[in-house]
Amino acid sequence: MDDNKLFSELYSRIEKLPVIDCHEHIMGPKEELSIREPIASLINGYIQSDLLSAGISPQELDILNDNSIDTEKKWGIFKRFWEQIQFTAYAKVTKLIVRDIYGEEKISLEALNRIREKIIQPTKENYDALLDKANIKLLLSDILWDLDTLKKFIEGRFPYYDRIKFLFSLPQFHNNIRNFEFIQRVGALLNRHITSLDDYLEVVYELLKRAKEKGVVGIKDQSAYSRSLDYRLVTRYEAETLFNKILSDPRNSLGWPEAKPLDDYLFHQFMNFARELKLPVQIHTGHMAGIRNRIEKTNAVLLSSILELYQDVNFDLFHGNWPYIGEILFLGKNYPNVYMDFCWVNIIDPMYSEELYCRAILTLPYTKVNGFGGDYFDVPEYIVSHLKIAKENMTRALVNLIKMGWINEDSAINIAKSWLFENPKRLFNLDA
Ligand SMILES: [Zn+2]
Repeated sequence: MDDNKLFSELYSRIEKLPVIDCHEHIMGPKEELSIREPIASLINGYIQSDLLSAGISPQELDILNDNSIDTEKKWGIFKRFWEQIQFTAYAKVTKLIVRDIYGEEKISLEALNRIREKIIQPTKENYDALLDKANIKLLLSDILWDLDTLKKFIEGRFPYYDRIKFLFSLPQFHNNIRNFEFIQRVGALLNRHITSLDDYLEVVYELLKRAKEKGVVGIKDQSAYSRSLDYRLVTRYEAETLFNKILSDPRNSLGWPEAKPLDDYLFHQFMNFARELKLPVQIHTGHMAGIRNRIEKTNAVLLSSILELYQDVNFDLFHGNWPYIGEILFLGKNYPNVYMDFCWVNIIDPMYSEELYCRAILTLPYTKVNGFGGDYFDVPEYIVSHLKIAKENMTRALVNLIKMGWINEDSAINIAKSWLFENPKRLFNLDA
């Protein structure tokens, strides 16, 4: 069978498989929105990083994002930068939305004017229709990332959408612990005034426990944006000295890296909480959204001592650790408690993802791969378009292995089914 035929045959079977989307930042459907101008609607999310990389100024980007500025007035700026980024995978998501959802072959000013009338709003009706068509059964969402949102969630004052399960967002509870006011704000969630490190740990444990009772299915941490993943095992004495420095005088605050031992200590304690509460832990590794960040602090290999110490905690490592492919394959193969999560990486680098899917089959149990996460913010049309790219990458990887004589078509479908549905279902204990 020729390659194209094999690809399309396999893709059409994979296209129909049910999906658990392992990572989004969504609250669920909203009635009112927001973006009604076509360019602003089509440059949502990661594509903005590519625009910045192409040299757009923050002021020009603000103009493109401004919903009240006419498309005609933005067109010049947009065209100049779109020209340069049109072949990236982030831009491919926009192209798929334009083609498959709005029915336009090319982006032109005329096409944008026609799109204006059809812009997808994140209503329940649109969510249901788009997710049904893509066969996405459940989405794991990381949105509880400030104290007010967490409070709402724990008190049950949260909008309900039956396809979303939430994660407990961890960074604020260790990476933000620098001053008296924030520590007391954490205590205030449970009407407690914090007077010791023990108090603080008790409060965070109780918050996690209540969040689990309200339905969170895991913990998520993306502090690699602002610190190294090298969480040292420090003594309690060191951590408590820093914590007491804050408590002993509300005017004190910790800087960085002064606060690191306390941050490290807290993270380790929270891994113990994860073990006690049987919550899997999702960790951001590799590439970061935006520009001008540092990659070396995000390499998953820095987590080795955490992965070795907390053997009863399952870790779902994100984004294929892009661009450190060898390290993530090693970690997945070497540690029974490490899972590989392909969220976002499919549109960071499709060929890397294809290679990673392929090599993951050759090197580790296929049951340890979570195949898809959209990683978008309340924009369902981006999620389903991203999923198409992920399924293409996955199909190409499987076709390669069929051609090598390594697997047959039925095994390929079984593997894809595990990646997209069975593995996340089991890891996060979901009833989907
Ligand atoms: Zn994310």
